[in-house]
Amino acid sequence: MTVTVRFAPSPTGRLHAGNIRTAIINALFARRSGGDFILRLDDTDKERSTKEFARGIEEDVAWLGLAWSSLVHQSDRLALYAAAVEKLKEKGRLYPAYETPEELELKRKRQLARGKPPVYDRAALDLTDDEKAAFEAEGRKPHWRFKLEPVDVVWDDLVRGRQHVDAGSLSDPVLIRGDGTFLYTLPSVVDDIDLGVTHVIRGEDHVANTAPQIQLFEALGASAPSFGHHNLLVGADGQALSKRDRALSIQGMRAEGLEPMAVVSYAATIGTSDPIAAHESLDELAEAFDFAKLSRAPARFDPHELRLLNAKLLHERPYGAVAGRLEALGVGGGQAFWEAVRGNLSVLEDAKDWWTVVTGPLEPVIEDRGFCDAAAKLLPPEPWGEESWGAWTAAVKAETGAKGKALFQPLRLALTGLAHGPELKQLLPMIGRERVLSRLLGETA
Ligand code: GLU
Repeated sequence: MTVTVRFAPSPTGRLHAGNIRTAIINALFARRSGGDFILRLDDTDKERSTKEFARGIEEDVAWLGLAWSSLVHQSDRLALYAAAVEKLKEKGRLYPAYETPEELELKRKRQLARGKPPVYDRAALDLTDDEKAAFEAEGRKPHWRFKLEPVDVVWDDLVRGRQHVDAGSLSDPVLIRGDGTFLYTLPSVVDDIDLGVTHVIRGEDHVANTAPQIQLFEALGASAPSFGHHNLLVGADGQALSKRDRALSIQGMRAEGLEPMAVVSYAATIGTSDPIAAHESLDELAEAFDFAKLSRAPARFDPHELRLLNAKLLHERPYGAVAGRLEALGVGGGQAFWEAVRGNLSVLEDAKDWWTVVTGPLEPVIEDRGFCDAAAKLLPPEPWGEESWGAWTAAVKAETGAKGKALFQPLRLALTGLAHGPELKQLLPMIGRERVLSRLLGETA
């Protein structure tokens, strides 16, 4: 059996930390199993779905490096759903109901007042043809409900273990709205059948949809796939994440300059028994992927932790992996520069600032004029290598008596204009004697 999974966002917004985890878990499972990863855009809700969001989602998934084997839009597949509707009607599993939302609400309130669960009472099943005609004459349009069978539905959830749901305790789900549009349930099941989806992997918020969907698979003559419901995210404070927080949107992370593999690594390891760690390849993450590692407790998404992971990834990244991007940023200095500065980067683009520190122009900070003048006089002639810094500062120490921070800090401030940064023994030869001299003398260089 070839594993086929799908990530099925509704294009009613861009992707954010919460839903990319579903994408990543699906993609890693597919990769691990040598299977297919389908990107399905659930765009049957015409009011809330837009083409821009759909394209944005494709962009976000592609940026994360999660290659899909096929891309489908539900809006292209309406004929399939219509055929399924006919099939369900023939089998007596789909029935029209005419209650308005207000009437349904009133029924719910009455049931609750009597201490009963607010389950749809199936009154519509008892309507005669005349009664239906009377409603239609009033201008009411029916919505359509799927008639559940009152049996115990069981599935072995890949994450949560064996699950039992008494379908007799559920309301018959509405599959088609009064305006003829589909709710998510039927198109999703029809597509899962048609596309040969073997594993439906999604967030825990869909657990309640599973029993009706299993009955729907069966009513349509298919056997249900496996299901797995992963834990959801909470913020660092344990509260639900806000979809509006830009720092949590993939677009925002991208604009900030985060590395896709940092985002993927973080999302793949939080809420699991694996340590949170940066990985450079999807294969590595896929290799480690196992449903059994997913925790049942909510996963904590801490934007700060993600940023630290991003920095860690950069700190370990070899020059060859970034050479092209550095060049595009106008950053020179080759491998020596990269190795000198990578430990000081939060995002790759920070390399630009360090390159300016090397090439100038830069405003030096002179704390002690006399000290800097003395240091300038002791500058050795070029060529310089990594040993030049040690030789020079030893001479300055011997001459001025300054040591430790009192020796190094004024030199760092004069040479870089900053109190912290990469090792000066590495930067010094790149800055070069001419600029070092000017900066020690307080000139912009
Ligand atoms: N469009 C649904 C959602 O975004 C898909 C759910 C599913 O994976 O079945 O929640």
